[in-house]
Amino acid sequence: MNSHQFFHDNSFKKKGVEYYTCPICGDDFTESDLKKSKTKNHLSEEHVPQNALGGKVIVLTCKDCNNDYGQNVDHHLVNGFKFENYFKFKQGEKYARQINNGGVIVNAEVELIKEDTLDVKIYDSKKKRFNPPSTIKNFTSTTSQGQTQYLVTPEKNFDDDKADIAILKNAYLMLFEKIGRKVIQSRSYTSVRRQLNNYHVRTFPKHFVKKAKIFNMDVENGVYQVRLGSVRAYMCVFELESDGNIEKYLTFLPTETSQQPFKIYELLKKQEKGDSLKVQRKL
Ligand SMILES: [Zn+2]
Repeated sequence: MNSHQFFHDNSFKKKGVEYYTCPICGDDFTESDLKKSKTKNHLSEEHVPQNALGGKVIVLTCKDCNNDYGQNVDHHLVNGFKFENYFKFKQGEKYARQINNGGVIVNAEVELIKEDTLDVKIYDSKKKRFNPPSTIKNFTSTTSQGQTQYLVTPEKNFDDDKADIAILKNAYLMLFEKIGRKVIQSRSYTSVRRQLNNYHVRTFPKHFVKKAKIFNMDVENGVYQVRLGSVRAYMCVFELESDGNIEKYLTFLPTETSQQPFKIYELLKKQEKGDSLKVQRKL
């Protein structure tokens, strides 16, 4: 599929002209906005989930929204996911990690040699994530002779709420790909867009996302109609992948006809497992 196909999939006609609405900001664009050279804020291909986490292009958003999220939100999810998997190593694979020795931190490449042994190579200036010579000197001077043990310390360089909002965007764009302009027209998703357009303040309820393994759900990626008690909702399922680590997420959004869009989150709050969740059909 190419950009033009994504455009036509969710376009609408007004006075004979075909328009596409950016699902995040709600601005309308014409097909000529697919040309980067023509307009300042053009339409751009959006990866869902994030490109760095194994996503693929499924919809178009405007360049302003795409860039804004790329610079301010998406990397919180990327870093958060890497942080969570910081100590998961597969034998024979090489990983970029930080090594801490008495407070001196260096960038290194680590490889799991056997069950409890990591081979550590400290990057010199030729490598991409190099260490300044002074840092290496400091690191070496704090290392005692024959020392074989170092701390591998992740640095928490992300914000939990922004990581959550990046997940919310993934779910919302997956639903947009499936049900199209209904997500723009229905009032059910006003609160989603309000959160996406103001990511500095957390306004959207928690509990809209569950890890599939914790929720005991084995289900393919995609969008499903589900029921929890008497409440109907959409469940958008996707995986994040980095360094060979994969995690499946279940995200919940209200239906377009929902009278109480937040009701599903009240119910999910009390759910430890997905026992009373009924999957009805895949979209
Ligand atoms: Zn936009």
